[in-house]
Amino acid sequence: MNKLPSIDQQYLLDCLVELLNTPSPTGYAHQAVARVADYLSAFPDLELRHTPKGALVASWPGDQNDAPRALTAHVDTLGAMVKEIKPNGRLKLSALGSFAWNTVEGEGCTVFTNDGDTLRGALLLTAASGHVHSGKVNELKREDATMEVRLDARTTSAEETAELGVTVGDFVAFDPRVEVTNGFVRSRHLDDKSGVAAVLAAVKALHDAGLKPAQTTTLHFSNYEEVGHGAASGFPDDLAELVTVDMAAVGEGQASDEFHATLCVKDSGGPYHHGLSEKLRRLAEANEIAFKVDIYPYYGSDGEAYWRAGGDVAVALIGPGLDASHNYERTHTEALVATAQWVAAYLLS
Ligand SMILES: [Zn+2]
Repeated sequence: MNKLPSIDQQYLLDCLVELLNTPSPTGYAHQAVARVADYLSAFPDLELRHTPKGALVASWPGDQNDAPRALTAHVDTLGAMVKEIKPNGRLKLSALGSFAWNTVEGEGCTVFTNDGDTLRGALLLTAASGHVHSGKVNELKREDATMEVRLDARTTSAEETAELGVTVGDFVAFDPRVEVTNGFVRSRHLDDKSGVAAVLAAVKALHDAGLKPAQTTTLHFSNYEEVGHGAASGFPDDLAELVTVDMAAVGEGQASDEFHATLCVKDSGGPYHHGLSEKLRRLAEANEIAFKVDIYPYYGSDGEAYWRAGGDVAVALIGPGLDASHNYERTHTEALVATAQWVAAYLLS
């Protein structure tokens, strides 16, 4: 077997940090989609298009085209929309994606108003001050009704907030707070910008080495994964295989960790395609890629979204291990590079 082309680790991290710092809550992911398109436009053999739904699709001609493949990773993240402007001028939110409010409590956020402005603020408990509410700060259940955005603007009424341009339906993005230290990347929304960056780094590795994929490959960057239907569409009709590149769940009882890429063989949607999973396992072994095999108990993927939409292809899932997923997440460069190597090995196989 030929040696894998080397992964440009700095490029991978640069892409990742820039994507993490580009807000893209589900339904409002166009800025991150545009950044990925910018990166891919450096490779002239990729043919880029945007789907009507807003996903980015790149077609990459391979040596053969008798069993076309696809990779999918998602740029959309958890976030929120303005549900109501409260009488006190603060904002009640409606969550985008599944997460607990306590995971973003106290976080800075940006509100994207209808007329293109941005407002800054923070998500707080309605009884936030210990000096005012004492034990209630600890006891109050975190739910839609007990969380509110305090805008960094002079407003104490619904009318004043409306005058700032805020309306029901405005998108809200929580600050990622990205830090890279000792090879660790700590940030919100590593799910799945880590997967996107790994795919970009694999694409660059093949190009740097003057290589192209074994089969014509569709690179699909989904913008609605966190609500369950991101990759339901956007693939060619003659597709044979789809590899989803998305985070691995790290924690008690899990085989995954922050230093390996993981092959997920089963999640809430049932088992993935055995044959394609075995192929990926063999590729990792043959190329000495740091990998684990795992099952995620509360998890669904864009590959399954395509299956549920009727996609009759083999589907598998690989991705970097993320600690504290859908919270203040963390991974390590080793897991990111392992994922990019795995994608490169698959493309060349
Ligand atoms: Zn994800």
